[in-house]
Amino acid sequence: MENLKPVREPEIKYTQLFINNEFVNSESGKTFPTINPATAKKICDVQEADKADVDKAVAAAKKAFELGSPYRTMNASSRGRLLEKLADLIERDISYIASLETLDNGKAFALHGSLGDIFFCCMVFRYYAGWADKIHGKTIPVDGSYFAFTRHEPVGICGQIIPWNYPLAMATWKIAPAVAAGNVVVMKTAEQTPLTALYLASLIKEAGFPPGVVNILSGYGPTAGAALSNHPDVNKVAFTGSTEVGKIIMAAASNDIKRVTLELGGKSACVVFDDVDVESVVAQAQEACMTNMGQCCVAGTRTFVHEKIYDEFVAKSRELALKRKIGDPFDNTTINGPQIDEEQMNKILDLIESGKKEGAKCEAGGERHGENGYFIKPTVFSGVQDNMRIAKEEIFGPVQQIFKFKTLDEVLARANDSTYGLGAAIFTNDINKALMFSQGVQAGTCWVNCYNAVTSQGPFGGFKMSGLGRELGEYGLQNYVEVKNVVVKIPQKNS
Ligand code: ADP
Repeated sequence: MENLKPVREPEIKYTQLFINNEFVNSESGKTFPTINPATAKKICDVQEADKADVDKAVAAAKKAFELGSPYRTMNASSRGRLLEKLADLIERDISYIASLETLDNGKAFALHGSLGDIFFCCMVFRYYAGWADKIHGKTIPVDGSYFAFTRHEPVGICGQIIPWNYPLAMATWKIAPAVAAGNVVVMKTAEQTPLTALYLASLIKEAGFPPGVVNILSGYGPTAGAALSNHPDVNKVAFTGSTEVGKIIMAAASNDIKRVTLELGGKSACVVFDDVDVESVVAQAQEACMTNMGQCCVAGTRTFVHEKIYDEFVAKSRELALKRKIGDPFDNTTINGPQIDEEQMNKILDLIESGKKEGAKCEAGGERHGENGYFIKPTVFSGVQDNMRIAKEEIFGPVQQIFKFKTLDEVLARANDSTYGLGAAIFTNDINKALMFSQGVQAGTCWVNCYNAVTSQGPFGGFKMSGLGRELGEYGLQNYVEVKNVVVKIPQKNS
């Protein structure tokens, strides 16, 4: 986007909790700091939500969802216009919002124009705006003298818990379909990145959403997050984050059979055959793995390369990683900013060490970059074996593993030998190989000759331990509606 310009020190306008369309302090008065990962310095303190604030926000959402409320009696098309207006407002303030995101999350400013970040948020709000008045049931020719129809009703109060890797995009992926289908929302943002969602809250108010329809809380997982996922009035929980916490959320949901959707971890395979333009695929495979500093659930971290081009592919990947510009995320030429925090940085460094110890060859990077902030050098491993920790565990950092393979059957089996199943890709000009792979791979998305082509229209989600349910597209609405069958006795039915 041409009008996207970095603002180096964006003003911090909102640090309070957003409940019932007002910014308020937490009940406890507690605050917590949010840190700039590029400098490890505090940006500001924000109000810290806990159970009492969750209760307050859920009560506001419940009121907004009462039968006869302004929200429930609003035309569906008007809900669509609210979402459209929100997209307009994000677009109006896009440079400010993108700058705030870069400050709080550390992502390279240049990423915001790409699919997956702030610009994508506008597209997702617009996409779901169009759906609002197109979500409807059917009339069904049931047996007997009855008139039967289905209503696609909103599920109700949706507790949404999001991570820090794409803070505003994750908020968007969850709020947009929920509101399109007429639900109300209580969202808890990630403790590392509360700021852009709070600004979004101000735009939600400005756009004219009725009070209580969307509530946004900053706070920690085991406190505010747990209170939300355990709240008896919450009808559905939508969660994006680690598989470990996903299991906790699912267990909590079982208490009162809450609807639950989960978008969890991954260890996606990116398979490269020998009939491709190596130079171009080297770049795409590295981007698949390292975009957003590798902090992407669908990152293609297992690069499987055909033995015939393996050595050339590794050499070119090494060269490219060494050239990948790392540093100040506000500099428009920077590709890799810092990792989100010290804990993540140390976890990644530990996995890198394990790779070295287990005998993989570190071709590039393999260490911290500088001493300020949480930067890690783009890292490439060759000679990776399937049983190594770096081959199995989600790294969530700029660390590419390159494996060697011979045949399609072999690589398919190895790609599927993972507890995860989020994404997969194959690069080849052979249509049969591409189709055989896309049939057999156990993943929610299979890209052919591309990677990370995530769109607002297509579904996104995981097989196996990568999640439950789908987000985006028409499929993303399914989890936000309850289907009600209305059966009316009539004196006589006619065809
Ligand atoms: P990551 O490891 O990427 O930080 P997490 O799964 O820990 O991912 O965090 C994702 C989101 O889940 C964050 O908003 C976090 O606060 C929240 N969270 C963490 N623990 C819990 C929990 N026990 N209950 C509910 N939410 C939680």
